[in-house]
Amino acid sequence: MSFQSLGLAPALLRALAEQGYTDPTPIQLQAIPPALAGHDLLAGAQTGTGKTAAFSLPLLERIYVSQRKPAQPKTPRALVLTPTRELAAQVHESMRGYGKHVGIRSTTIFGGVGMQPQEDALRRGVEILVATPGRLIDHIGQRSVNLSNIEVLILDEADRMLDMGFLPAIRRILGHLPRQNRVTWLFSATFAPEIKALAKDFMRDPVEIQIAKPNSVVATVTHRMHPVESAKKRDLLLHLLAEDARQTLVFSRTKHGADKLTRMLEQAGLSAAA
Ligand code: AMP
Repeated sequence: MSFQSLGLAPALLRALAEQGYTDPTPIQLQAIPPALAGHDLLAGAQTGTGKTAAFSLPLLERIYVSQRKPAQPKTPRALVLTPTRELAAQVHESMRGYGKHVGIRSTTIFGGVGMQPQEDALRRGVEILVATPGRLIDHIGQRSVNLSNIEVLILDEADRMLDMGFLPAIRRILGHLPRQNRVTWLFSATFAPEIKALAKDFMRDPVEIQIAKPNSVVATVTHRMHPVESAKKRDLLLHLLAEDARQTLVFSRTKHGADKLTRMLEQAGLSAAA
């Protein structure tokens, strides 16, 4: 199936062709039609699957086909929440690429940089806001952002946002969004009970999509698990290394642990570096 048959505007198709995209990825195939039809989405997909375009394309299409009249307020119509500023910048950059021929204004709101340029951009007016929760709350507090016209809310990497403790911030932001006439598209790599609970609270009958994890394990690698008491871990490691004396990569939870392990290996006559 092609991008054409998904019903995207020629201006978006042209941008995709310029990016060298020929076919939609599985997440795009599954997410774009229900998103365009106005459904809520609960999508399980990791980075690398093409998830950014899976929500950006239907978002741009929706805003493009229903451009507001010049007299209407220039407050944002769509909000994309991301866990980090790096991801916000990356999503914004991708969205600008896909939307380069549709003339839709977007901006980013994230911490670690001045508030003023963000306030100026908001005052000039945007259609799409890509934000991290913390800084968006600051703007809400200063009344420099008006979220009352948001039609589309996208939560990107929702599991990471929850891991980073953004749940209260997300709930506060939700309190400033319209409940009626809003669609929500939630993307997450995993679906822990908290994500399901959050989704249940503020989504309406979402279409559920699950994309298999991209194959991240080399087929020639064998996995083995050795349950072992903590006190015997070192002896087991030395035993395994003696059994199979190839170059080995050992992961440890902390820097301190890595240093200790390196000293232990050196004492046992193995050359090691942390
Ligand atoms: P993402 O999962 O959104 O981080 O995207 C992963 C990468 O795939 C990005 O570099 C995209 O530019 C690229 N990409 C997304 N969709 C397509 C597509 N349909 N064809 C080719 N590349 C794509």
